[in-house]
Amino acid sequence: MMPSDNNDGMGFRTDQIHAGVTPDPITGGILTPIHQSTTFVQESVDGYMGRGYSYSRAGNPTVRAFEEKMTVLEGGHDTTAYGSGMAATVAVMLGLLSAGDHIVIGRVVYGGTYRFADQFLRKFGVETDFVDASDLDAMRAAIRPETRLVFTETPANPTLELTDLAAVSEITGTAGIVHVTDNTVLTPYYQRPFELGANVIIHSTTKFLDGHNATVGGAVVVDSPELQETIAFARISAGLVMSPMVAWLTLQGVKTLSERMDRQSANALAIAEWLEDHPKVETVGYPGLPSHPQHELALRQATGFGAMVWFEVEGGVEPGKKLMDSVQLWSLAENLGQVESIITHPLTMTHAAVPPKERAASGITDGLVRLSVGMEDIDDLVADLDDGLAAL
Ligand code: PLP
Repeated sequence: MMPSDNNDGMGFRTDQIHAGVTPDPITGGILTPIHQSTTFVQESVDGYMGRGYSYSRAGNPTVRAFEEKMTVLEGGHDTTAYGSGMAATVAVMLGLLSAGDHIVIGRVVYGGTYRFADQFLRKFGVETDFVDASDLDAMRAAIRPETRLVFTETPANPTLELTDLAAVSEITGTAGIVHVTDNTVLTPYYQRPFELGANVIIHSTTKFLDGHNATVGGAVVVDSPELQETIAFARISAGLVMSPMVAWLTLQGVKTLSERMDRQSANALAIAEWLEDHPKVETVGYPGLPSHPQHELALRQATGFGAMVWFEVEGGVEPGKKLMDSVQLWSLAENLGQVESIITHPLTMTHAAVPPKERAASGITDGLVRLSVGMEDIDDLVADLDDGLAAL
């Protein structure tokens, strides 16, 4: 599939390497240095901030290079980077919401996002409705005069339910409110939410953008100066910043984003097709399979299907757990989007914070096995799963 073009006239593969990065003016070092410095010495009181930096909670040159790259890759106005994907989500909520406001969140989102909205936003007087984001009438009906934003995640972790971003943006646009979307699972290489009308894009950079299981980080890309000012103010006030070391490692990771995503997605499609034919597998979810109920939307809205697959084995929970315990090459772990293949049980791991009733309503069954497919040889990945399934 063709990578998306961004808005600076260069192709995505060029920008993932070069955007935001210029050789060090003093040494010529080709990589942006790790500016591991807390404070920045000022030339004079009147010339305060003359070189653009004061204190690393307010801004740091290595972090800025990463932010500039993200702005170009998403085709947005500006970016702020964070100490985690959750810190990014928290900064958006802190910046945009006040007591008495209401927000609408897609009913399938990352478990930590659910937990923050359910347990913290409510505590501060923000009302939250979790709504089936694939049901546009339900989304429209959920919006009230005090609704400030709609939060979506597509494909949603872990069920891979899709949200029609353009249709939701039309609803938020008509209501004059902000559409925030988490683009972690497909990244700007496969999905361009600003072109579909979203206003704020959230990333857990921990996932595909790093891709090497080396960091925890986050980013918020916005489409306007007003949103940048509000969210950056929340970040500096709450101190939710990304460290220079994480920014540097993520700058290196992003250089190969397209190649990793293409390989991982090709592996994911092959595994999904193989699982669908396996006699011990009951259900498989992957947006690239024609059997996925939203396959047409996946084709229309994105240029790739991604590296996440889920399935349920015959007999449900116990055989599923046995399989996850027995595989060798697949790591039983949290995280996704890495070069290493990872197998996860959302019920006990990533989505343990979601109450059973909500989990059931959103299709996160107790036996659901989540795969984040890596870059290993496909034959080895299949052989390991095959051994695990044969032992059931
Ligand atoms: N968004 C999605 C889709 C995620 O999967 C995750 C983490 O798994 C997050 C956000 C939170 O990111 P982090 O773990 O970097 O805080």
